[in-house]
Amino acid sequence: MTFKDFNFKENLQRAIEDAGFKEPSPIQQDAIPVVLSGKDMVGQAQTGTGKTAAFGLPMINMMNGNSGVEAVVIVPTRELAMQVSDELFRFGKSSGMNTATVYGGQSYNMQLRNIDRASIIVATPGRLIDLLKGKKIDIKPSFVVLDEADEMLDMGFLDDIKEIFTYLPKERQTLLFSATMPPAIKKLAQNILKEPEFITV
Ligand code: AMP
Repeated sequence: MTFKDFNFKENLQRAIEDAGFKEPSPIQQDAIPVVLSGKDMVGQAQTGTGKTAAFGLPMINMMNGNSGVEAVVIVPTRELAMQVSDELFRFGKSSGMNTATVYGGQSYNMQLRNIDRASIIVATPGRLIDLLKGKKIDIKPSFVVLDEADEMLDMGFLDDIKEIFTYLPKERQTLLFSATMPPAIKKLAQNILKEPEFITV
């Protein structure tokens, strides 16, 4: 199987080639068709398996790049936020998609300026809820991704995450990734996803 089999748009296909990706990883082979079908998905996968591209590539393919923030990716740490943001920018830039990286300890003004120009926000839960609660941003993303959900719960972000979802549109595609599936994650998935497909690698 190659990336060509997904029939991605031309700019995206070229960005994948420029990145030197030849073959989709197992999670990419399983997850990309599900995401492209519009279904919600729970993916059990560790870091290093290519999960960022597993959700990022189909998401970017379905976004149009000119209608404000279309996707929000919520991650546990600033380091992961920067890493995921870089990876998504690499694939989205030739389609005119900017990413904004949002985490605590950095000036609100700079992040707000970046959000203004962004199609994708990659955020840690605390700063994202601050921005939403303070009415500093009003976003209607079509895609919402929770990455490393078990880490976020271990760090005590469950209430922030639940509150974030009260600000997000009900009509959306939601994807949840987690290395482990304890009962708390299954319950969260039940609350925020609709009839998800489950994928394990
Ligand atoms: P991730 O699990 O998303 O953190 O990805 C781990 C690393 O593998 C990143 O540096 C990706 O750019 C890279 N990667 C992801 N998918 C592929 C692929 N299909 N071919 C080659 N490298 C990949």
